[in-house]
Amino acid sequence: MAEQQTNGNWQERYRNALLGVFGNPQLCLDHGQGCVVVDNDGKEYLDLLGGIAVNALGYAHPAWVEAVSHQSETLAHVSNFFTTGPQLDLAEKLLALAKAPKGSAVFLSNSGTEANEAAIKICLARKNGRIIALNHAFHGRSLGALSLTHKIAYRQPFGPSAVDVTFIAPEDPDALASELDRGDVSGVFMEPIQGEAGVVPLSDEYLQQVRELTACHDVLMVVDEVQCGMGRTGRWFAHQSAHITPDVMTMAKALGGGFPIGATMAFGSDVSGILAAGQHGTTFGGNPLACAAALAVISTIESDDLLTHVRQIGTLMSTALRQSHPRITEVRGTGALLGVQFDSDIAADLVAAARHAGFIVNAVNPSTLRLAPPYILTKAEAESFIAALPRLIDAVQA
Ligand SMILES: *Cc1c(COP(=O)(O)O)cnc(C)c1O
Repeated sequence: MAEQQTNGNWQERYRNALLGVFGNPQLCLDHGQGCVVVDNDGKEYLDLLGGIAVNALGYAHPAWVEAVSHQSETLAHVSNFFTTGPQLDLAEKLLALAKAPKGSAVFLSNSGTEANEAAIKICLARKNGRIIALNHAFHGRSLGALSLTHKIAYRQPFGPSAVDVTFIAPEDPDALASELDRGDVSGVFMEPIQGEAGVVPLSDEYLQQVRELTACHDVLMVVDEVQCGMGRTGRWFAHQSAHITPDVMTMAKALGGGFPIGATMAFGSDVSGILAAGQHGTTFGGNPLACAAALAVISTIESDDLLTHVRQIGTLMSTALRQSHPRITEVRGTGALLGVQFDSDIAADLVAAARHAGFIVNAVNPSTLRLAPPYILTKAEAESFIAALPRLIDAVQA
């Protein structure tokens, strides 16, 4: 009976019970396996969005299921009066993956926006000044991170910014230099690949220039790798392509493979020592269940050499997509984070057409499709989408 009702009127039940901030959901999903999710009518979809860059191992991956099940049978949550083996293992592992120098340290939380809140506090506790962020940046929805999020529609209803932020154009080192010259900047935030902006990568050269300028002016450089980190580009962290060491890095999305977790990494003892005992905290952050999920994601990426796979599948997809239809003007990004740019605003219609054809993709803006598939996406699965896309494009333009 209950199941019958879910099938029948989930849209109405949703509207009557859930806050409308996400609009109407596209589907009511029931279960998943690998890169395929199934809705409650039994229709299957190849998921090329992966829960918005979260489900690195797809759905119901055996290693993830085993880790979460096992951990939930022993310890799920303990409070931060205590530590646990999974928490210690995860912090040490993340520092190693980031090649963080001695004295670096991690703060564990539950989401991307929280990871950025901790990063903002690190900057402001060191020097109470302005934060510089980039045009079209997205750093989250809580009030601090929201201050650093560029889109006015997201910020306007909520009054003056919690943080004094100046937005500058990306790829313009002179614009950054002139802000830093004023002497009142405490931190510079950027996504090495701007995800919500439409998958717009920053050049290695610009990241290097930012590193140099911030170091010269004694200002912290914060890289927000919430979307582009944790192996998504075929490197553990996207900024590593520029061979720089930031002062702070934030991560979340793929970190827990579907279990909520965020992390803020402070590089070096000068930065990791800024927040003293009592200056920041979280109840849930760093609980052993979330840490076990993250450790399962990391060890599977390592044991299955998914970084290599992500690089290969990303190259295959971006090359093929570029040639697949004349209305595709550009394919941006690398690995499992791609933005497919069209010559006009057909992305929303394409999402609907793709869904009917059994593919989940995202219109990150009116003219760009975002693909952020699980790292385990097979070549055959990628090719099935590439083969279907030209017909979908023709259908929406007709
Ligand atoms: C998704 C995202 C966030 C916010 O993460 P939440 O978990 O939704 O709070 C922050 N920064 C970037 C770059 C993101 O893509």
